[in-house]
Amino acid sequence: MKIGVLGAAGRMGRMLIRQIHETDGCTVAGAVDRPGSVELGRDAGELAAIGPLGLVVGDDPAALFKLADAAIDFTAPAATVAHAALAAEHGCNLVIGTTGLTPEQLAELDRAAQKIAIVQAPNMSVGVVLLTALAEQVARTLGPDYDIEILEMHHRHKVDAPSGTALALGQAAARGRAVDLAASSVRSRDGHTGARPIGTIGFATLRGGDVVGDHSVIFAGEGERIDLTHKAQSRQIYASGAVRAARWTNGRAAGRYAMRDVLGL
Ligand code: NAD
Repeated sequence: MKIGVLGAAGRMGRMLIRQIHETDGCTVAGAVDRPGSVELGRDAGELAAIGPLGLVVGDDPAALFKLADAAIDFTAPAATVAHAALAAEHGCNLVIGTTGLTPEQLAELDRAAQKIAIVQAPNMSVGVVLLTALAEQVARTLGPDYDIEILEMHHRHKVDAPSGTALALGQAAARGRAVDLAASSVRSRDGHTGARPIGTIGFATLRGGDVVGDHSVIFAGEGERIDLTHKAQSRQIYASGAVRAARWTNGRAAGRYAMRDVLGL
C-alpha cells in the first residue's frame, strides 16, 4: 500500500515516514510540507533518519494524492481542511491526526468524507482508544455513586489544558453516565471550594519535564477505587496507530471514521 505523509518535516511527520517504511507491505508514496519550509527538497528518508529513500519533500499535496492509496496528515487545522477537500477530489483516503479542529472545520471534513474514507482522531494511540472505551463502560456500570476524576500530565512545553485526550476521556465517561460533560465538569479547584458536588466529573492537570502524556480516569467510591491509567512513553505510538488506520482505509466505503472503528470497538 502506498501511503503519503502531509507535514512530513514535523515531529510526527518524520516518525510517520519511518513507521510506513518499516511496515510490511507499505511504502512511502510522497512527503509534503508547507510551501516555504526549509526542509523542502530534502530526502524524506534522511529527514526521518532512516537513510535516503530517493523521495524528496515537496509542497504539492495534489501530486501526492494522485500517487497514494492513502495519506496521513499531522499538520495544522486550516491546512488539514484544505488537504481533505483536495484528497476528496483525487479519491485518496485520509488519516487525520491534527488536533484543535473547530466544529466548522469538522463539518468540512464531513463534506470531504462523502467521497473518501477519513479516519480522524485527536489521539491515535491504540492504548488510549481502548482506555476511552473502558472509561465509558466503567462509568456506565458504576453509576453516579462513584466520583470521576481525570488526571493528566504532559511535558513542560504543552500550552493548552486539559489535554484534548483528557477531554475525550471526560466525554466518554459522561456518555457512560448519560450526562452532559459541559454541565457536569469541574475544570479547576482552588481555595475554599466546598464539598465535591455529586455527579461532577473533575479534571486535574500536571505539567513538567519531557512527559509524553499520562492519563488516568479515577472512579472513587465508598470503600474502593478503580484507576484506569495509560502512560505514553514515545510518540511512536501515535505514528503506529495512524499507519494502522491508513491500512484499514484500504477498500473502505466513504465516510468519517474514528479510531474505535479501526479497532472494531
Ligand atoms: P509540528 O509543528 O512538529 O509539525 C507540523 C508540520 O506540519 C510542520 O512541519 C509544518 O511545516 C507542517 N505544515 C503546516 N502547514 C502545512 C501545510 N499547509 N502543508 C503541509 N505541511 C504543513 O507538529 P507535530 O508535533 O508533528 O504535530 C502536528 C499535529 O498533530 C498537531 O496538531 C498535534 O497536536 C497533532 N498530534 C496528534 C496526535 C494524535 O495522536 N492524533 C499525536 C501527536 C500530535
